[in-house]
Amino acid sequence: MGKCKRCGLKTVLSEQDIERMVAEVRSMRGIKTVKDEVYQSRLAACFDCPKLEYGSTCALCGCVVHVRALLADGKCPFPKNSRWQV
Ligand code: SF4
Repeated sequence: MGKCKRCGLKTVLSEQDIERMVAEVRSMRGIKTVKDEVYQSRLAACFDCPKLEYGSTCALCGCVVHVRALLADGKCPFPKNSRWQV
């Protein structure tokens, strides 16, 4: 499987990869996360976004959206207007 030339991570992540990353972030001390309804709303916007690649990665920032959407201070980088409502 290919890897990102910049960060070395796999470009196509399995569900287990993503679950592991999300669990790791949730377990980190000092990281503020959003409530589940906010998380699901953000993810729905990402899954409907033309900038989503490989089903998991934002082409604008390179983040795994499952992680970015979880962060209380996470922002959607879509030009001019965030696609996230919350
Ligand atoms: S631009 Fe925003 S909505 Fe689109 S994939 Fe990136 S974070 Fe998600």
